[in-house]
Amino acid sequence: MINLTEEELDRLWELALKARGRAYSGYSGFSVGAALLCDDRKVFLGCNVENSSYGLTQCAERSAICSMVAAGSSKPVAIAVRGPEDVDCSPCGACRQVLMEHNPDMLVLFQWGGQRVEVRCRELLPYGFELKERD
Ligand SMILES: [Zn+2]
Repeated sequence: MINLTEEELDRLWELALKARGRAYSGYSGFSVGAALLCDDRKVFLGCNVENSSYGLTQCAERSAICSMVAAGSSKPVAIAVRGPEDVDCSPCGACRQVLMEHNPDMLVLFQWGGQRVEVRCRELLPYGFELKERD
C-alpha cells in the first residue's frame, strides 16, 4: 500500500468534483463524479451515466473502475466520490462490491453529514463477497 498525502487526497477530492461536471444525469438531476487513484499514480475519472431505461444507469464509481481496467492499470488505492453539495453520497451497494473486487483496502472518500469521510473499502462492505480462498 502506498502512502497517500493529504495533498494527494485533496487533489483527488477536487478531481471528483470536475468529473461530476461531466455526469449524464438529465433524468434524475443527481450528478455524481468519481476520481480513482492507482498505485502507478494514474488517476481515472468517472461520472454517472443515466439511461432512459433507468436500470441501465451506470454509477460514477463503476465508470471510473471501467476506465482504469480499459487503460491497463490494475491497483486502485483511493477513490473520491462527489455528489450534489450538502447531500450525503456514499457508494451504493453495487459499487461497494465492485470496489471490493479491486482492492478491499482502498481508501474511499465521500461526503456525509457535511464532512468528507475517509474509510477503507472493507469497512463499507463488511463480509463482502470474494471468489477466492481465505488467506
Ligand atoms: Zn453505485
